[in-house]
Amino acid sequence: MLLEVKDIRVHYGKIEALKGISVEVNQGEIVTLIGANGAGKTTTLKTISGLRGLSSGSVIFDGQDISKMPGHKRVIAGLGQAPEGRGVFPGMTVYDNLLMGAYTRSGDLSADLDEVFELFPRLAERRTQMGGTMSGGEQQMLAIGRALMAKPKVLLLDEPSMGLAPLMVQQIFSIIEEINRRGTTVLLVEQNAQQALKLAHRAYVLETGTVVKSADADQLLNDPAVQAAYLGGS
Ligand code: ATP
Repeated sequence: MLLEVKDIRVHYGKIEALKGISVEVNQGEIVTLIGANGAGKTTTLKTISGLRGLSSGSVIFDGQDISKMPGHKRVIAGLGQAPEGRGVFPGMTVYDNLLMGAYTRSGDLSADLDEVFELFPRLAERRTQMGGTMSGGEQQMLAIGRALMAKPKVLLLDEPSMGLAPLMVQQIFSIIEEINRRGTTVLLVEQNAQQALKLAHRAYVLETGTVVKSADADQLLNDPAVQAAYLGGS
């Protein structure tokens, strides 16, 4: 097991947003967290990446308890995140945005840049364009590409399909699949449950800060209760 979230509780002031969430991610998997608005998906990812502290429970990564490790050290340890809302540096070029993703590393980055440009030809074409002038889908590509520049063992993705046209969503999802095929483990948070379940190996369903179901993604795709609640009843 590469990442283990053990019974975490997280508070925003007095509000308990996570009421004891446990999630496991094995090496090589794509795991997805699905659930309605406010279920706690983003908070779970933020707690894993160190952007939120936890009240109890623990996060174990690569055999080490990282619950109290600062976020930047988690990046060095191998947790990469493309955050919700993307967080692209608007006044920097595509190229410089990508280099920022590698700020924890030293040495020659050209092979890694080549790989990102191969995965995202659009970024290669636009390497001198300012991040802030890229389209929503392109900014999502840039956020993922930037996270890859840190050479993560686990890539944490928060709503990569948000606000994108269907064709762009397809494109982003097939790139995530390719990234996984090349060896990066993926933990994906998605509102687009249908697409996420088609892509993932396993999934967790979150409701109001707890895990109400976890199973192979195929199984959840065919689960009538999941279909009714999250797949538009289809
Ligand atoms: P969405 O898909 O809408 O982003 P989510 O499943 O990712 O939802 P979270 O964003 O993790 O859910 O939110 C979980 C709960 O924590 C919600 O009730 C939300 O209102 C609350 N919450 C999130 N961020 C904050 C914050 N900064 N301050 C106070 N409450 C917060």
